[in-house]
Amino acid sequence: MTKTRADGVTNFDAWKHAYASRAANLSVSEVRALFAVVSRPEVVSLAGGMPDVAALDTELIEKAFASLMSNRRDLALQYGGGQGDLRLREQIQEIMALEGIHSSVEDITITTGSQHGLELVSDLFLDQGDVVLVEAPSYVGAVGIFRHKEAQIAHVYTDEHGISPQALAETADRLIAEGKRIKLLYLVPNFANPSGVTLTADRRLEVLEICKQRGILIIEDNPYGQLYFGEKPPNAMRSLDEQNVVYLGSFSKILSPGLRVGYVLAPPAIREKLVLANESAILSPASFAQMLVSEYLSIADWQKQIATFRDLYQTKRDAALQAVEQFLPKVHTTRPDGGFFLWLTLPEGLNSKEMLPLAVTELVAYTPGTAFFGDGRGADNIRICFSHPTADNVRVGIERLSRVLNQQIDLLETFGKKD
Ligand code: PMP
Repeated sequence: MTKTRADGVTNFDAWKHAYASRAANLSVSEVRALFAVVSRPEVVSLAGGMPDVAALDTELIEKAFASLMSNRRDLALQYGGGQGDLRLREQIQEIMALEGIHSSVEDITITTGSQHGLELVSDLFLDQGDVVLVEAPSYVGAVGIFRHKEAQIAHVYTDEHGISPQALAETADRLIAEGKRIKLLYLVPNFANPSGVTLTADRRLEVLEICKQRGILIIEDNPYGQLYFGEKPPNAMRSLDEQNVVYLGSFSKILSPGLRVGYVLAPPAIREKLVLANESAILSPASFAQMLVSEYLSIADWQKQIATFRDLYQTKRDAALQAVEQFLPKVHTTRPDGGFFLWLTLPEGLNSKEMLPLAVTELVAYTPGTAFFGDGRGADNIRICFSHPTADNVRVGIERLSRVLNQQIDLLETFGKKD
């Protein structure tokens, strides 16, 4: 049994006076606060963005493990280089080539998940008050990092074709005219978390040009690019510009998030600083996890595994869309062509954060839209993650959600908007 400290004993303010000022920006994320609820078996969780690791071929992973232990054990159990395992970096080049990227192994740094890559890049670039431009909505984990760096987060209008180039140029120019220093544009161009939308090929070119003209570095975060359901998405922005784009990749969604292996492909001008930052933070990325991934990639038909994930998630996406159409006729949803998420827009006046406890009593959990904005917006949005529950449970979950939502919508229509 787990031993926990008796509640009520700990004074959580005991060291408050000594925290760095930026620690005030570390608060419980809406996604994390849900984890306790979500782990109850009777609750269908449409909340956390988890892959369906049950669809992995565990025999292949065991084989990779056995081969690692018999052939490269001493290296795997030892510290490694700060930039990461060379063989794995070469294999990552092959993966990125699927998105049109030509890279040099020298420019790749392996990190503890791509989250850590984003943290390192943010730490290299952001001083207090610097501006980071992001989509509206944007990935909660990125918003959290930028907040922790005491940056100003500026959301840019985003529609079903991704971030709007016109709004991007206008927002950037307005902030520059106000004397702000815009350092970064952070984007998830493929099947975005949380919106599910994909940036069109034309807009990619425009966004690159707008940022180049204004000296804004682009962070292209692409954990879902391989998980397309129909046509492949356009090539990575990094394939069009190697000087002004930092590309983040991850094995979390195409293999396993438990291994915590991600990577950064940095412009040559930045890569050395990035490796130094990685070494300063963690000495070296986990040799064992890297080499296990590398072994897996060399023995497994990993493209076939990714194809299995595509089929599986497409079936679940279809179940989710069908259930939304059937049970939530007054709710708008995005129609993603890949990835893990639907982004729902509720009739104006509803508050998804306030409704969450009601949903949990109906045994369904979701993430309120406010988690994905740095400015309090998103009360009338919900992120639905369809990747982890079975297709049947996705349907059950959305039906349960409809009991709460439709009742609230009826109340709203009868009594009007609350003050
Ligand atoms: N970026 C995005 C857009 C994500 O959705 C996630 C995972 N939820 C991450 C980064 C972090 O992934 P990793 O497991 O590689 O740290």
